[in-house]
Amino acid sequence: MSPQPENFRKTKIICTIGPATNSSEMIEALARAGMNIARLNMSHGDHKFHGDIIRKIKNINKKLKHPIAILLDTQGPEIRTGDVNAELDLKVGEIFKFHIIPGLESEAKSVFVNYSDIVNDLKEGDKVTVDNGLINLVVLEKKEKELICRVLDGGKLGSRKHINLPGIRVNLPSVTAKDKRDILFGLEEDIDFIALSFVRSADDIVGLKALVEENGGHAKIIAKIEDQEAVSNYKEIISEADGIMVARGDLGVEIEIHELPIIQRKIIKECAIQGKPVIVATHLLESMINFPSPTRAEVTDVANAVYEEVDCIMLSGETATGKYPVRCVEMLHNIALRIEKSGGGVGYINERIPADQKEQLAKATANLADSLKVPAVIVITRRGTTAINLAGFHPNFPVIHAFTNMTSIRRKLWINRGILPYRIDFSSDPEKTITQAIETIKKNKMVQSGDKVVILSDVIAGVDRVDTIQVREVK
Ligand code: ATP
Ligand code: MG
Ligand code: MG
Repeated sequence: MSPQPENFRKTKIICTIGPATNSSEMIEALARAGMNIARLNMSHGDHKFHGDIIRKIKNINKKLKHPIAILLDTQGPEIRTGDVNAELDLKVGEIFKFHIIPGLESEAKSVFVNYSDIVNDLKEGDKVTVDNGLINLVVLEKKEKELICRVLDGGKLGSRKHINLPGIRVNLPSVTAKDKRDILFGLEEDIDFIALSFVRSADDIVGLKALVEENGGHAKIIAKIEDQEAVSNYKEIISEADGIMVARGDLGVEIEIHELPIIQRKIIKECAIQGKPVIVATHLLESMINFPSPTRAEVTDVANAVYEEVDCIMLSGETATGKYPVRCVEMLHNIALRIEKSGGGVGYINERIPADQKEQLAKATANLADSLKVPAVIVITRRGTTAINLAGFHPNFPVIHAFTNMTSIRRKLWINRGILPYRIDFSSDPEKTITQAIETIKKNKMVQSGDKVVILSDVIAGVDRVDTIQVREVK
């Protein structure tokens, strides 16, 4: 999508790359349709699968005007069923067993589970949920190496299906040995974001940050809120993380599903208050996995997320295995753009209290740009912080054109609502850098002669660099 002020979409799009989209052609088509960030889900595929995709993205990025970012999503302490030779048919009322004996041939009415403590953690009457809530069972009896259950909601059970134990604290570390291997692999490839699955507390993020730092990485940390414990600690988690994902897939199984909209709204609002980017994920266009157009409810769900000024909307199965990946991205693009143009968003600018002088400046810039109704704000930013601060105040009107001199910082700015990131070489004379930035956005037809723009940057005054907000007219 070539940038034009009228088709610049503030809400960013994340796509999961899977078997339906791992060719160079498909990745490029998704990027051109509007994908800003590619997600690699480490719950599926090996390092070769994901390494190939990363190489393809890096090649495509050389051709794109605005290179896309990569998010590596960890598997986390996830419980899955083992492989089955043929789908098992679970019928309501039947007895079904989960066992923890690796290598035991799967029988018709039992399946292996990769979590041996399942027999210790659960008690009679507890619920086991398979395949994101499709199949539900209740524990009748515990044996040393198996759980005997009754099927409450039946269905077909395939290989490696996800198991949830709602309300049970799973006795696995939040970064497992596999996650650590996957993270080191990602850092080696200089990926931009790590999404930490099943975050439980702010300490989990502190631990992951240390791991990234020890290995000389620069990836930003996105905390996935997907169970009751994370919901209980959400404020501290938001404060420690670089961004948040409302991971509605697991969350919708781990908590009462009618609580989901309330929790989603609470998290989005807290992220606005703390100035952190937030991603809404899972089932946005689920029906488009198989059909060429979405349900009315899906369109409205996406629209509501945009009204609430979320930073990113994310596709999972829709692009990983679906039949219409590019159409899904076009659909999100069209809905988001339409809703953004309609106005009437929540307007979070006054929710956030600036914590220091830098944030005061960002808020003042947002207010000034909104009251002048300028089409563009230019931010000159080395590490991206100034641009992130500004985006965190949710200015209504302008596109935030963020200019950094580092390619990796540039890619990371995709996650923040309203930012269009660029890389330029900084001149030793800040005036030259500003002039170059204005020329760049003019050349891209984002502004024209006579438009006013607001600029947030530092200039040299004597020997010091001084933060300034300027209003200039485009020549
Ligand atoms: P998570 O809970 O981490 O979201 P998931 O199993 O729900 O895991 P998604 O990435 O949300 O996975 O959805 C992608 C869908 O595509 C899943 O149903 C998955 O089975 C399927 N898939 C198959 N191969 C891949 C792959 N390599 N990457 C991602 N998804 C894949
Ligand atoms: Mg997961
Ligand atoms: Mg999912």
